[in-house]
Amino acid sequence: MTDRHDFASDNSAGVAPEAWTALEKANRGYTPGYGADHWTQHACDLIRELFETDCEVFFTFNGTAANSLALASMCQSYHGIICHQYSHVETDECGAPEFFSNGTKVLLVEGEHGKVDLAAVGRRVTKRSDLHYPKPKVLSITQPTELGTLYDTDDLDAINELKTRLALRLHMDGARFFNAAAALDIHPAEITWRRGVDVLCLGGTKLGMPVGDAVVFFDRALAGEFEYRCKQAGQLASKMRYLAAPWVGMLEGHAWLRHARHGNACAQRLAEELVRVPGVSLLVPVQANAVFAQLPDRAASGLKTRGWHFYDFIGDGGARFMCSWQTTDEQIDDLVAAIRDAVG
Ligand SMILES: *Cc1c(COP(=O)(O)O)cnc(C)c1O
Repeated sequence: MTDRHDFASDNSAGVAPEAWTALEKANRGYTPGYGADHWTQHACDLIRELFETDCEVFFTFNGTAANSLALASMCQSYHGIICHQYSHVETDECGAPEFFSNGTKVLLVEGEHGKVDLAAVGRRVTKRSDLHYPKPKVLSITQPTELGTLYDTDDLDAINELKTRLALRLHMDGARFFNAAAALDIHPAEITWRRGVDVLCLGGTKLGMPVGDAVVFFDRALAGEFEYRCKQAGQLASKMRYLAAPWVGMLEGHAWLRHARHGNACAQRLAEELVRVPGVSLLVPVQANAVFAQLPDRAASGLKTRGWHFYDFIGDGGARFMCSWQTTDEQIDDLVAAIRDAVG
């Protein structure tokens, strides 16, 4: 039996051809290190073009560093960061946001389908105003959420209104931001700075780059001395051109949009096939490139016995299947057949 990681995560996929080609080109000759090269300059300019604004851009090796250093730059050590209980910041970063901000407290709220409940955010912020409680300062949202759902423009308008009313800063974990922009079919500016996002962590890895995420400061004042944070945290790449070049490959010619649309379309197709399997249902609406499905008793373990790898972090029999730029119709057919087989 062969091990199959096809749908375990979008980081199980390889490097997209456009990113790979750019890396090969960047590999020719000599350039200065630490970001003083033209690849890095060009990648930053392309991100500014994409968002149609003069933002500050930094590259990190991964999303945990991007999130925690971004949050540290948005907070004092006595501040609180409000986020969803399922957020990566809370559940998958080993306390890095608190560590890099020297003691900031992450404050959790609930909310349906992985999206923060705004009334709960309001209660979190106004519950205490004395100096014995960490002062809530940042609201962090994930787009698409950890459950693969989307904040649409109405959601973001409401968040922006709340942010202004409560004098919060707004951080967006966009590990799969490109999937969100493609699914909403909207200009990236409309779901970020035009709706109050101050800092965006923009994921490259899961889109199909070998390594690297970007921190995008729409509020440029928050970027002050950020390069020192990156350096101190071991996130300043010496051969920066290799972090930057894949961005050039993915942004030029809008390769990002093709790949994000492909992953999203694969998830839609997988979801359509899965609901036809007796006993299988969707746990949350499929809006980007993730499918969360409830499998009948024993089907999940049966699927694992058949060599399929997937995440099952939400409840009994709840399975997550991620699609990527690399997902094929044949892989979807194979997975659906294996699930039918496991269901019996
Ligand atoms: C993958 C992911 C990240 C980044 O994780 P790293 O493993 O540190 O690159 C951040 N946020 C979300 C929601 C993710 O899925």
